[in-house]
Amino acid sequence: MFKDEMTPKERMEAFSKGEEMDRIPVVPDMGVTMSDYLGYKTWDYYSNSDVIADTEVALFKRFYHDSISVSTTLRGMAEAMGTEIWYPEDGISQLKEPVVKKVEDIEKLKIINPLKDGKLPVLIEALEKIRDQVGDVASIGAAMTGPFSVAASVLGTETLLRWMVKKKDALHKIMDIITINNGEYIKEVGSRGFGMGFADPVSSTTLIRKKQFEEFSLPYLKRNIAEVKKYCGSSAGLHICGDSKDLWPLLKDSGIGNFSLDNCESLLEAKEILGNDIVITGNVPPVDVMYLGNTEDVKKSVKECIDIGYDSPCGYVLSTGCQIPKGTKMENIDAFMEYGREFGNYKRLKELKNETK
Ligand SMILES: [Zn+2]
Repeated sequence: MFKDEMTPKERMEAFSKGEEMDRIPVVPDMGVTMSDYLGYKTWDYYSNSDVIADTEVALFKRFYHDSISVSTTLRGMAEAMGTEIWYPEDGISQLKEPVVKKVEDIEKLKIINPLKDGKLPVLIEALEKIRDQVGDVASIGAAMTGPFSVAASVLGTETLLRWMVKKKDALHKIMDIITINNGEYIKEVGSRGFGMGFADPVSSTTLIRKKQFEEFSLPYLKRNIAEVKKYCGSSAGLHICGDSKDLWPLLKDSGIGNFSLDNCESLLEAKEILGNDIVITGNVPPVDVMYLGNTEDVKKSVKECIDIGYDSPCGYVLSTGCQIPKGTKMENIDAFMEYGREFGNYKRLKELKNETK
């Protein structure tokens, strides 16, 4: 079995500079769905920075994965802006009452304070606590939701889709306020020395057309991406759930440094279309392989992904195609890490490169 020769922090620093590494970075997409690892409920994780820090540090000690990420989750920013969220005791949060129901409600929207509003202060505290505990060896970053996906919880998805056609000006106004608010969080997190990545599931072409992405999502996302560069001093990554291939040509020069694709998309095509410009990340199926499969299925899928992605010109990160579902067997995540090390270490990849020459 391959043994790491670098710490995750050393590896990610080398990766960001394009220097040699002992193996490719391996990052299972986790978070609130892992809250039961130490016996907590999702509500504990959503609401308590000690629970987040304990859980993330314990997971890190087990997997030694290459990035610990603390996310606002899909609805965190909308909640800070006044949307009501329903938290089941042990399940994923749901939209209860969107803060904007009619055009007049837009006037009520305020500029958020990341140290006061919603659960944002909990997340910032958690990031600090994790860094205090494992910061010398771990790579730690924040994650948040792209502006268009925030809008789905500020308005409700159905209203959002309707307003793209019927109330364009009002929607642009909301998008502007959301982007400013995302920027407030980026500034705060950046001032503390953390990087930032985005998940933007509602921008998927499973839900909207490319033209709509160009009009309502991309310009605002680009503003936030530029703010990450400015305030965090690093390039933002982006994950889009579901279909995204039509958007890739637009993402190339959006300013992102890394694109993480869903498992419904092809890693090979992503390498061909995006690989010369940015890092690609993906895309072991979280449900069919990680949740429903066994360790042999994980092994097969990890090898397939690495053998496609490893020579992507700007670099490759092995990850899951989306968040690992609650209830996934720990042994499958162990296997994900183990086979990531086995198939992704530089000795094997060197041989692989020579064979294919
Ligand atoms: Zn996803």
